[in-house]
Amino acid sequence: MLASWMGNPMHTLVLDPGFLPIKVISWRRALCLSFLDKVEVLASYEREVRTVSHSYPTPSVVRLLHAARPGPQVVRFSRKNVYLRDNHRCQYCGVQYSDHELTLDHVVPRVDGGKTTWTNVVTACAACNRRKGGRTPEQAGLPLRTRPARPKWTPMTLAQRLPVHDVPEAWRTWLGVASGR
Ligand SMILES: [Zn+2]
Repeated sequence: MLASWMGNPMHTLVLDPGFLPIKVISWRRALCLSFLDKVEVLASYEREVRTVSHSYPTPSVVRLLHAARPGPQVVRFSRKNVYLRDNHRCQYCGVQYSDHELTLDHVVPRVDGGKTTWTNVVTACAACNRRKGGRTPEQAGLPLRTRPARPKWTPMTLAQRLPVHDVPEAWRTWLGVASGR
């Protein structure tokens, strides 16, 4: 069994047999695929995963050895992904902020039965969130800039939308992201 180092958000970029990036998976999954000989490892992170008897480099970029079955690729609902969907822009005042200055706002407040879903959660700056309080945009007189929706992009597009310093160095060649910033 793999010894764990929990809480590390490292991900692995997956390329199809023709070297085109297709998705992002967890390094654990990537390591499993590599043990199963389903992928070849093209690049690794410096950090190693240790088991009782061995240590393995953590895969950063892997290439599928056989074409994958096409399946639905959905973007997971998460704070970070909502920020990315909204381009880090407060959906009330329209100003762009960095992650730590942003909050998630329930358009229809939770107390009124508003769900935590792509269509009811938007990016809001702390000031707008406070101003809106537990009210709907109409009640608060704070109209939404865009109607929130589930993003149409795939986990792949997500990687391309990440700030360049969040994209692992080894991925940049494959994603066509400029280096050196
Ligand atoms: Zn705002």
